[in-house]
Amino acid sequence: MTAKRVAKAAAKKAAAPVAKSYNPFVVAQEQFDRIADLLDLDQATRDLLRNPLREYHFSIPIRMDHGGIQVFRGFRVQHNDARGPCKGGVRFHPMETADTVRALSMWMTWKCSVVDIPLGGSKGGIICDPHNLSNYEIEQLCRGWVRQIARDVGPYSDVPAPDIMTNPQDMLWMLDEFEKIHGGKYPGFITGKPINIGGSKGRTEATGYMVVHTVREALRELNLKPENTTASIQGFGNVAQYAIELYHKIGGMVSCVSSWDPKDNKEFCCRKISGVIFDEIKSITDPFGTIDRVKAQQMGYEILPGDAWLEQDVDILIPAALENQITADNVSRINPRVKLIAEGANGPTTPEADVMLEERGIFLIPDILCNAGGVTCSYFEQVQGNMNYFWDEKEVFDKLEAKMTAAFQAVRETAKRRRLRNRDAAYVLAVDRVARACKDRGWV
Ligand code: NAD
Repeated sequence: MTAKRVAKAAAKKAAAPVAKSYNPFVVAQEQFDRIADLLDLDQATRDLLRNPLREYHFSIPIRMDHGGIQVFRGFRVQHNDARGPCKGGVRFHPMETADTVRALSMWMTWKCSVVDIPLGGSKGGIICDPHNLSNYEIEQLCRGWVRQIARDVGPYSDVPAPDIMTNPQDMLWMLDEFEKIHGGKYPGFITGKPINIGGSKGRTEATGYMVVHTVREALRELNLKPENTTASIQGFGNVAQYAIELYHKIGGMVSCVSSWDPKDNKEFCCRKISGVIFDEIKSITDPFGTIDRVKAQQMGYEILPGDAWLEQDVDILIPAALENQITADNVSRINPRVKLIAEGANGPTTPEADVMLEERGIFLIPDILCNAGGVTCSYFEQVQGNMNYFWDEKEVFDKLEAKMTAAFQAVRETAKRRRLRNRDAAYVLAVDRVARACKDRGWV
């Protein structure tokens, strides 16, 4: 190609419209910049907090079952540890990117801070698809990830946990490798372990139960009794199931739940106006939260399109599946009766939808507060592990409720005092605590 044609092609490429792809780290930094303005943070603090403190990117060579070697990419990103050791999950995902891990590490910093637990934020991952790996290969990956990062994580510096497509067994392999390398027993190194080997009672239920704990606090403010309310829920996985269980226990009634259908590759809802029967739906759901649609229909449930959960004539919506679900395009379809949205999932509402929900006067419990019961219980597991002394279930739940109530009240107090919507109040509270810790340590 001639120089002229090269220049022409380059100009054409530059002029072509570029599709704006979703980059969670860009979103996380934009969110931070807005809160930094509200808090009037100085430039050094902004520079420190809008990027991770440390990042590790590494290769993990694994001998595969067929005998050959495959090299995987792994990450650990430590966003901030001014308030205590970093805490964050390890994700196994084929589409994992450094920017996703960076964003999630920053969100972990804010989540730990808003519930006022003495931890910072981190996240890790490996680019891989566990569906295509044998158990032995997954074990090698878990051990390989720890071998690359073992000197930069630990019970007093950075504590991993399960996340997307990792589970308690994986955590145990990781712990075992860490203990081999360091020559000792360190049960506080990692959380989300099986309950018989260092896991905490209550961890499985913690997120869903605490979502409902925050709902109960919000209903009190709205002068509503749980037994006079109804709810519609997106998802039927870990968070949704325990949320429904507790919400039913306190007298509420769920009329609609939803699930992903991997056969059809689309979501659907199951509705029973008189109320879904939890045990009945649970009995036809697999361990990944997939409801058997045909059996649900046979049981008398109406099968509705996937986004119908949003339009139900209920008081409360609980998105508990995915990010990016309540958007500027569908807010108008939310029933006028809805008074409360509790974000069980991470990032289910877009910033544009946030503004519209506020205009409609809907009370929103933001994700970093609403689903923080999970990380709080993980913190309890770390504490118990470090002491090598484990609490009974009642002690765990009493402590969890105390933490969540205090966090809810602090967010509401900030919202009222500064005239902010709940999400901004939660972020202001969280970012301010971290900024102060950095200042008090003399970092900025
Ligand atoms: P899960 O994998 O156990 O369940 C997910 C559920 O969502 C399943 O029922 C699945 O069928 C359903 N689903 C998936 N795609 C869907 C779609 N397009 N429409 C409707 N339903 C769909 O996951 P989980 O652990 O319950 O997590 C749910 C959300 O909560 C995620 O955003 C997660 O990041 C967040 N979260 C989880 C925890 C925790 O402790 N599990 C803690 C904090 C935040």
